[in-house]
Amino acid sequence: MKCKVCGGKAVISLRAYNSALCEKDFISFLENRVFKTIKKYKLINDKDKLLIAVSGGKDSLSLWYILNKLGFNADGMYIDLGIGGYSDLSLEKVKKMSDMLKRPFYTFHLNDAMGKGIEAISKKIKRTTCSACGMIKRYIMNRVCLDKGYNVIVTGHNLDDEASALMGNLLYWKEEYLWKKGMMLNEEEGHLSKKIKPLFLCSEREMAAYAVLCGIDYIYDECPFSIGAKSLFYKELLNRLEDNSPGTKLQFLKGYLKFIRQMNIEKNRREMKYCINCGYPTVSDKCNFCRIMEKYGIERNIIFEEYRPTYEVFE
Ligand SMILES: [Zn+2]
Ligand SMILES: [Zn+2]
Repeated sequence: MKCKVCGGKAVISLRAYNSALCEKDFISFLENRVFKTIKKYKLINDKDKLLIAVSGGKDSLSLWYILNKLGFNADGMYIDLGIGGYSDLSLEKVKKMSDMLKRPFYTFHLNDAMGKGIEAISKKIKRTTCSACGMIKRYIMNRVCLDKGYNVIVTGHNLDDEASALMGNLLYWKEEYLWKKGMMLNEEEGHLSKKIKPLFLCSEREMAAYAVLCGIDYIYDECPFSIGAKSLFYKELLNRLEDNSPGTKLQFLKGYLKFIRQMNIEKNRREMKYCINCGYPTVSDKCNFCRIMEKYGIERNIIFEEYRPTYEVFE
């Protein structure tokens, strides 16, 4: 297998693009893909202050690395869900990247702030771990942006994540989610930060290859609570489709994005109110987060620990 660009030895075949690339050309292909996605979909403005949600996994750490390489300065945010050794190890990987990029990051410790880890909280509020985790993460991420002066949350969701979420929402016609699953959610100043997903056209396999080739040290294990999750099953199904007809995942997601653009969903949005406790957008008086945590008596002492990368200062 030869590299389509330079004729050297290819390390990865990209059937969706009918291509194969060597190490060097694949790395620039992927970085260029992220850059073009940001430009084409106008994900980032000059004035934006970026905060990236990092989990310690390959996607978010690679994205942090790529953004910095492309000149988009981003600081990090890590949510310590209190899942024992898994969370500790993830945090170590985040610290390592922070030191390497010389960019600080914030940590939110669930155990300190809410008195419990994610497993105990989800039991108490009678939600599955994944749904409780999703709700808390969305809320906390928005909160840290507003508190610390950022206006954009960047997440490392890749093509496989987005395609499988779309598939799940379509299969059960979860219309409410279908209309707001764009790759960029707009900012509402003082209430909601902009959310962007610059990796949405990069597949899981491409991201794994990128992380390995660039020597990025990430946590291999999936979250222990994701085992058996439907999203993993959808990913497997989509990969089988992809094997049969390369490019299916890209088509699926791009077609959807075109469709929601044409539908002009922004106009159809419901009238938004803001939570009387915290200002978060909501359809009732209080946001979901405040309402649920209040109902089940869970403490909310929202504080962020700041980690400054270790580097020598010469004066
Ligand atoms: Zn090459
Ligand atoms: Zn609230």
